[in-house]
Amino acid sequence: MFAEVIVDIAHTAVDRRFTYRIPEALPVSVGHHVLVPFGQGSHLKEGFVVALKETADYPEIKDIQKIVERYPVLLPEQIALAEWMKDSYHCLFVDALRLMIPAQMRGMRVREKKVRTVAVADGVDPNAAADALKSAPVQKRVFELVAKIGAEASLPDLNAFYPGCTPAVNALIKKGYLAEQSETVFRRPDKLRLHTPEHTLTDAQTRAADAIRAATERGEGDVLLLHGVTGSGKTEVYLKAIADCLALGRQAIVLVPEISLTPQTVGRFTDRFGDRIAVLHSRLSAGERFDEWRRIRLGLADIVIGARSAVFAPVEKLGLIIIDEEHESSYQSESQPRYLAVEVAAKRIRTVGGALVLGSATPSLMSYSRALSGKYTLLELPDRVAGRPLPTVETVNMRDELLMGNNSIFSDKLAERLSECLAAGQQAMLFINRRGYATFVSCRSCGFVLKCDNCDISMTYHKTESRTRCHYCGAVKPLPKECPNCKKPFIKQFGIGTEQVEEAVHKLFPAVRTLRMDTDTMREKGSYEKLLSAFHRGEAQVLIGTQMIAKGHDFPNVTLVGVVAADTTLNLPDYRAPERTFQLLTQVAGRAGRDNLPGRVVLQTYEPNHPIIRFARAQDYVGFYHYEIMERKKLLYPPFSLFIRVVFADRDGQNAERGCLAYAKALEAELRSALGEEGKQDLLLLVAAEAPIARISGYTRYQILIKLLRTKRLRNAIRTVSAFHDAHLGACAEMQLEINPQEMF
Ligand code: ADP
Ligand code: ZN
Repeated sequence: MFAEVIVDIAHTAVDRRFTYRIPEALPVSVGHHVLVPFGQGSHLKEGFVVALKETADYPEIKDIQKIVERYPVLLPEQIALAEWMKDSYHCLFVDALRLMIPAQMRGMRVREKKVRTVAVADGVDPNAAADALKSAPVQKRVFELVAKIGAEASLPDLNAFYPGCTPAVNALIKKGYLAEQSETVFRRPDKLRLHTPEHTLTDAQTRAADAIRAATERGEGDVLLLHGVTGSGKTEVYLKAIADCLALGRQAIVLVPEISLTPQTVGRFTDRFGDRIAVLHSRLSAGERFDEWRRIRLGLADIVIGARSAVFAPVEKLGLIIIDEEHESSYQSESQPRYLAVEVAAKRIRTVGGALVLGSATPSLMSYSRALSGKYTLLELPDRVAGRPLPTVETVNMRDELLMGNNSIFSDKLAERLSECLAAGQQAMLFINRRGYATFVSCRSCGFVLKCDNCDISMTYHKTESRTRCHYCGAVKPLPKECPNCKKPFIKQFGIGTEQVEEAVHKLFPAVRTLRMDTDTMREKGSYEKLLSAFHRGEAQVLIGTQMIAKGHDFPNVTLVGVVAADTTLNLPDYRAPERTFQLLTQVAGRAGRDNLPGRVVLQTYEPNHPIIRFARAQDYVGFYHYEIMERKKLLYPPFSLFIRVVFADRDGQNAERGCLAYAKALEAELRSALGEEGKQDLLLLVAAEAPIARISGYTRYQILIKLLRTKRLRNAIRTVSAFHDAHLGACAEMQLEINPQEMF
């Protein structure tokens, strides 16, 4: 027998299947992690067996040397998934395979943890033995302790009783009084159990859970979109759907955004399912991650909760994947392979025959349009549970505040609501958006935003150049001295930080305790959990933060949410900015009034009449959807089209520029011929220009941005670009192809 092996080296030149002979004595099967001789010196390299075959087409074939783990580390279904990723995201096969196993498993940097245990040996009479040990008092005491425990005792436990007793234990084993065993233990992350009463589902929840159950049972790869307002009880539906899935003899994966993967979230699941849960997230130690992964692989866990990469968990009887807050951008990987967890999950669930549930209060435009067109099944939870109202949302026009002479961070309205909330002994959250900090240019008097004449995208202020740039087409404009619209001198780049908001709170309410959460205060491990639980316990009345406070938290005493500047993200130079802003505002607003106290939200904005702000105030997702999808259609932005970006970086700036321009010209010709006469209109844009971040650590960067209409020819067009890219590597030092890039600037 022969094996096809992918060698664990991430390089285009060796990213293919190599054939090895399987020695008689080695029980190699598909998915095994193996050592094989590779290259000139036949050094041993790690690799993964991806297929077996009876024959090999050439005579000089080397042998597989060793199996690293006893069990195959990859499921056949995962190998097929990696193959699909290679084509869909233009990545190396080996890079896709690496996602399926814990990083430290490669290079054998993490091992199983074994603990020595001892018990009284078979046939030994404890009383007689104690007598016989009279002359060795330490051994006698240790023996009596083990006899008293009456079961396997671990060496760490014995040493806790009698420090330094290991030599005595060894002597007792040698004399035959004790028998030794060793046991593999699993390092488990601490898991809090958060008592969550099992609620009787509402009618809407029952309908949703029934539909998911039916789809899981059918096993045809259905995708269901669970659109439920904040606080509508989506998690309760997930819990029921998982219980149903287990009852069908299958297993489940639940993805939540990394940031909301808190002990609180895990606690709700652990309370319901106990030890059948495994968790995977970035705050685990290497040992914990390896052991949780093995518990899943060995079938000791039935439910995996994790962040994005848990979509690859080695769940053998997979029947259900749930993606909570499916619209979150953190479900798209920022490094190679740049996969989308939602797409990977859909592919995986089609292969294994199960169901995929996407849950959100603000589904992505893509998912909602698929639900409306019937590709996905739409499930709706239109109301909060227990008759709780959605919070009331007010907007404040910050231009009016300025005209009235208030140029502080807080409008009169927000200050007043804050004071009412604090007087009632309740808590408030103040949200500020740091993304978009000082990047766009706007007029504080009339709300005018400086935009590109070609792209309907906000110009970005570049401090070093003191001028503005369009990140889509490269157009440049100077920073105006006065507003082109109202001629007043209040036009400038925009931005406020969390520290300033905190200061402003203390100025207004000197006695109030505040907590601040942003990337600066959250560097230390565990600080995030610490701060959240302090706020939960009521140690502060006001929590001030960035994006981090917008997600999933349930603070029953929070009745006021203030958004300091609702439009900062609205004017980011990105076609997704309106969608992201609406999602964010809805999520933040959803933090208010989740328990029995009604909630209030104040949105401060310079553009109170902007449609997105109006939809957010009305908390009208459907209205927002229909408005925004028309906007996308007008300018042919996704989902009507697809972006591809190729980045060129080189220490030699001229080389980067030349390489990029020549590549662009040749690619355009190739694409046009591939699209043919029929697809002439499909290529909407192909521009080569200096990248928005023109230099990074000594490298000059250029980029090509391609926009293609989404038609039946799209897959072929992507293939053409990928093949062209592979054939032209080397045009400059670093070249990267990104399909559906997350950031274009
Ligand atoms: P979502 O995930 O949609 O924001 P949650 O699942 O967190 O909503 O539910 C909000 C709150 O309502 C939670 O405190 C939850 O325990 C409670 N809840 C959920 N379903 C029910 C129900 N059927 N009856 C009573 N309370 C419920
Ligand atoms: Zn432009």
